Amino acid sequence: MPDNSPDGVADPQPDFAAATLLTRDDGFPFGAVVPPIYQSSLFTFEDYAALEDAFAGRVRRPIYSRGDNPTVMEFERLVAGLEGAEAARGFASGMAAISATVLSQAEAGDRILCVRHVYPDAYRLFRRLLPRFGIAVDFVDGTDPDAVVRALPGAKLLYLESPASWVFDMQDLPVIAAAARDEGVVTVIDNSYASPVFQQPIRHGVDMVVHSASKYLSGHSDTVAGVVAGRRDLIDRVNELTYPYLGGKLSPFEGWLLVRGMRTLPFRMRRHNDSGLEIARRLADHPAVERVLHPAFSNQKGRATLNGFSGLFSFEVAGGVDVKRLVDALKLFRIGVSWGGHESLVMPALATLRQAAEPNSAADFGVSPRIVRLHVGLEEPEDLWADLARALERATT
Ligand SMILES: *Cc1c(COP(=O)(O)O)cnc(C)c1O
Repeated sequence: MPDNSPDGVADPQPDFAAATLLTRDDGFPFGAVVPPIYQSSLFTFEDYAALEDAFAGRVRRPIYSRGDNPTVMEFERLVAGLEGAEAARGFASGMAAISATVLSQAEAGDRILCVRHVYPDAYRLFRRLLPRFGIAVDFVDGTDPDAVVRALPGAKLLYLESPASWVFDMQDLPVIAAAARDEGVVTVIDNSYASPVFQQPIRHGVDMVVHSASKYLSGHSDTVAGVVAGRRDLIDRVNELTYPYLGGKLSPFEGWLLVRGMRTLPFRMRRHNDSGLEIARRLADHPAVERVLHPAFSNQKGRATLNGFSGLFSFEVAGGVDVKRLVDALKLFRIGVSWGGHESLVMPALATLRQAAEPNSAADFGVSPRIVRLHVGLEEPEDLWADLARALERATT
């Protein structure tokens, strides 16, 4: 009998120091309270000496927007502050941040260790692209800290995602990060699910944090972007080795949209936490639902480092429920990939299992075709529940 009970869910503790960081912004021209959009490809120099200072690295200042752009730097400053990191670098997508971060550390002959149920395109990067450059990747069950620690020796990099895609199982970050440090293995975590409001992996010993900023950091489903945060020397390595040459830089306008979206991040996250838990609890009690896969529930492992939950989770429907009819019967939950915006979304694993792109992580990691993922948005939870309850009834034979 699967355990469907919410497991001692604490009151969410959005970091309100974060709220102050995100809402107080000073030093802009004319006392503006919002950063200007520096829609400029290049930045000129007053004289030769200033040019040489910048080129020789004696002064850090914007030169060309494939490097630093002042609007994007404002986004990077906020993310670094939220994650408790020394530095951050924005990217054109989460995948640009992930690939540039991994490639800043790994080279031919290296082995990467990666947890199972990693984001599908990260999985394809590891399975398809990196082996072409002589980088091997092994996958390990991240919910088993002993298995992770046993697999560490000889690895160059450990790639984590907690909670992980589709199934929302978790990794014991303090234990795993400490063991990796002892072995000299650099740790990278995808923190998109929790956002820095609900999980700050660097405080638990993880070296680098990547985000799909397209999700909660943006919060408005109008931007595709990414970011990596970490120690100065690790971010410098990204800046020197991969970022300028792979060229996946973030545009000033999207940097500005991200700063705008992040002002309300702690408040949005609290709402996603509350509404998501409410819907998850009701689903767990519903006869058409076999089990709920939510990081707050006791059938999930190792949630010690989360101090709140986002609006993303899955549930597995019972035998008599037709997944396709369920998805089609929903009205407020619209059918779509991605998540983290204001709107509620539904995504059936069934379609992911039939995706043409190879390899297929959902198939390889054994995601059930009866699993349905929800993103609980900012709508009224009673309206969302009415939509779900009606759709479940229609889909049950
Ligand atoms: C969406 C997503 C990514 C990829 O981010 P993009 O911005 O789409 O490139 C990476 N990790 C997770 C967990 C995601 O959900």
